[in-house]
Amino acid sequence: MQPKYKRVLLKLSGESLMGDKSFGLDPAMLSAYAREIKTITDVGVEVALVIGGGNIYRGMNEAETGIERAHGDYMGMLATVINGMAVQAALEKEGIYTRLQSAIKMEQIAEPYIRRRAMRHLEKHRVVIFGAGTGNPYFTTDTAGSLRAIEIKADVILKGTRVDGIYTADPEKVKDAQKYETITFAECISKNLKVMDMTAFTLCMENSLPIIVFDINKPGNLLKVVLGEKVGTLVKD
Ligand code: UDP
Repeated sequence: MQPKYKRVLLKLSGESLMGDKSFGLDPAMLSAYAREIKTITDVGVEVALVIGGGNIYRGMNEAETGIERAHGDYMGMLATVINGMAVQAALEKEGIYTRLQSAIKMEQIAEPYIRRRAMRHLEKHRVVIFGAGTGNPYFTTDTAGSLRAIEIKADVILKGTRVDGIYTADPEKVKDAQKYETITFAECISKNLKVMDMTAFTLCMENSLPIIVFDINKPGNLLKVVLGEKVGTLVKD
């Protein structure tokens, strides 16, 4: 099997790790994702991972939490490190070599983020997990994913979601919404389709980094995506 992409950055939301729970981590989801990731490392794809933190903490809701935005955002970034450690453990159970790099220094549990080191790990076929987002408040893990993908020269950013692509309208709300197989960055903007937050999206657009939005919960989909099969929606120039 010849993969279409040599190096990918997979972005998973924190919420995807919750499974049916309302908070935290579901061990069954962790092992399911680890198995999916193994299917693509097995065909030689170099994999970097960015995981959200929304299953544990989101800093953005100052009004709700009573915690000022920047402070809460740092809490959110720490949540992504917990998720990163959980995914790391699940991957290692599958026999995959991993490294966790954190944008906020925590030397006992993660390497600091060093771009060239991350790239070296990837060349050695270790899965590199980027924790703590960008290390800055007022950003999201989608932005961290786009930024890291560009830095490490990934061929594509794979956004694993609950829906199987980008639709003309929200398919969870509008019945006859149509799915796009391919769409350009410009069309997404003109049609006001939300793929990622604006900062993340703009980074991809300005650096011509293609995005594939696909259903990560369908077993086998991740492998199909890296083999270049028509799964999800491809956003490109
Ligand atoms: N966050 C941040 N800077 C970053 C990445 C994340 O401040 O570069 C914080 C922010 O508060 C965010 C939280 O971490 O709400 C969790 O990340 P995100 O909401 O992107 O996770 P997801 O929705 O993917 O689970």
